[in-house]
Amino acid sequence: MKVGKILKVSGPLVVAQGMDEANVYDVVEVSEDRLIGEIIEMRNDRASIQVYENTTGIGPGEPVYTTGSPLSIELGPGLIEGMFDGIQRPLDALKDKAGDFLTRGITVPRLNREKKWDFVATKKVGDKVQSGDIIGEVQENKVFKHKIMVPIGLSGTIKSISSGSFTVDEVVAKIDGENGGDVKLMQKWPVRVPRPVKEKLDPIKPLITGQRVIDTFFPVAKGGTAAIPGPFGSGKTVVQHQLAKWADADIVVYVGCGERGNEMTDVLMEFPELEDPRTGESLMKRTVLIANTSNMPVAAREASIYTGITVAEYFRDMGYSVAMMADSTSRWAEALREMSGRLEEMPGDEGYPAYLASRIAEFYERAGLAKVLGSDDREGSLTAIGAVSPPGGDISEPVSQATLRIVKVFWGLDYALSYARHFPAINWLNSYTLYQDKVDEYLTNSISKDFAINRKRAMALLSEEASLLEIVKLVGRDSLSDLDQLKLEVSKSIREDFLQQNAFRPEDTYCSLEKQFLILDLILSFEDEAKRALENGVYLNEVLALEVREKITRAKNIPEDKLSELKNIKTELVDAVTTLIEEGGSHA
Ligand code: ADP
Ligand code: MG
Repeated sequence: MKVGKILKVSGPLVVAQGMDEANVYDVVEVSEDRLIGEIIEMRNDRASIQVYENTTGIGPGEPVYTTGSPLSIELGPGLIEGMFDGIQRPLDALKDKAGDFLTRGITVPRLNREKKWDFVATKKVGDKVQSGDIIGEVQENKVFKHKIMVPIGLSGTIKSISSGSFTVDEVVAKIDGENGGDVKLMQKWPVRVPRPVKEKLDPIKPLITGQRVIDTFFPVAKGGTAAIPGPFGSGKTVVQHQLAKWADADIVVYVGCGERGNEMTDVLMEFPELEDPRTGESLMKRTVLIANTSNMPVAAREASIYTGITVAEYFRDMGYSVAMMADSTSRWAEALREMSGRLEEMPGDEGYPAYLASRIAEFYERAGLAKVLGSDDREGSLTAIGAVSPPGGDISEPVSQATLRIVKVFWGLDYALSYARHFPAINWLNSYTLYQDKVDEYLTNSISKDFAINRKRAMALLSEEASLLEIVKLVGRDSLSDLDQLKLEVSKSIREDFLQQNAFRPEDTYCSLEKQFLILDLILSFEDEAKRALENGVYLNEVLALEVREKITRAKNIPEDKLSELKNIKTELVDAVTTLIEEGGSHA
């Protein structure tokens, strides 16, 4: 280890000299406390180091040790159910060593070194293998099978391999050949480098989230990218949590980037208690949490996004569908801004560094549906969903703008909606998705040919509602024709009975695609039936007073195993209108 000396300390930034043998992005250890840092700039023999721990009490003259390797994380059994900080130090282990508050310079292994895992080999001696090939499996918990892959860069013929009980650090197979080497259950990867794939493909299948406004109106594809911008309190974190809980991904990687100190504590406490609706097991059995609260050093926040996406890529490489949530990328961008300021770089828009947009783009570009490495042609997907918290909710600021230029789905949260307790407060008039056409094909085949037709009709009603309401404001509701008044009733029903979804109500928190379709279909049938009534001389207020409307309002609380009730309501509606016509269709 080569030693340099600290020249100055400015918060999380340390400048050291005598570092001529080090390189940008090398990890260093600062002072005898061995604080972990990373070189972010080199000028001659001077290194600017961002330190991932509190630098109070550290000063000029103290040593800096270079490690000669980039910031890397450990990938292997033990990741799942793990809770880590931004540079993958396990929060539990840190707690055990240091009490509730993190002290400095504690070097704990990233993955548990003592625990033994049952490895079942699926390849044998003499098999030819290449990078990414699966050579065996570890059943990590009841629901998750960890595939052990030939590390990237290795290939050749298997010289030895054995099933059995191993720690992550023990050799389970040896590969012969020019690019041969040892395979352990664990591999390392530098977080700032995307893990390579064979080929990126066009995402086509929706990530089903059970959230009506998302799945029906603004779906994201598996392997897609989405952003959730919104002001403080508009529901970004609740949406992210809902996705983490309900999205039909095999693995969820949740990165909490210090919005509020206690918010991550909530996640850390709540997630282990949640039941995975697909398996009945704890949700943590398919989840990795990376937590940086605002009281942790700013640089670790910067790293946490890369740590998270690297973990996500690793599971994608096994052939799984992975969803990564980052809440909030604005806090991450602020960390970038703070480090840039301390480096005295030329500031760009609002003090953010000029490379802000390219960093955001690089992050989202690591998402995708891909043919992954290995000879078996498997596919894996990584969906990336980032919350953005623009100050004051104004998305003209740099982080929102840079994000919107790159992501394909925009779920715009709206202060007015959340104030009116319309949740999720996703504004249907300005949100969008670029996956609609592909996903529609899937929905047409798997749910109904009317799925997309109904959505288009509902969207058209909602945008018409916006202009009708303008007219109502000027001249009053009575001046509208019966048909226009009906439109207002139906669009209100779409908003309240379909789009609003209570995350905290057990019957409503998750809604299957089938149920989503049936509810919307029922609401639109009401418009059809009301029109039929009007055409046959029934008064509008008679139709609006039908008792069955009450049932439409409560349709979303019908349990998933009683969906036939939704069809019964539709029958009841048609019958009620028929009766109305028969009884009183003589007004005309
Ligand atoms: P943000 O992360 O944007 O600051 P939160 O996600 O913490 O906002 O949401 C703020 C509050 O809004 C929540 O505590 C909750 O009361 C309410 N809320 C948000 N989304 C929903 C929802 N889908 N259902 C019910 N309440 C919600
Ligand atoms: Mg939040």
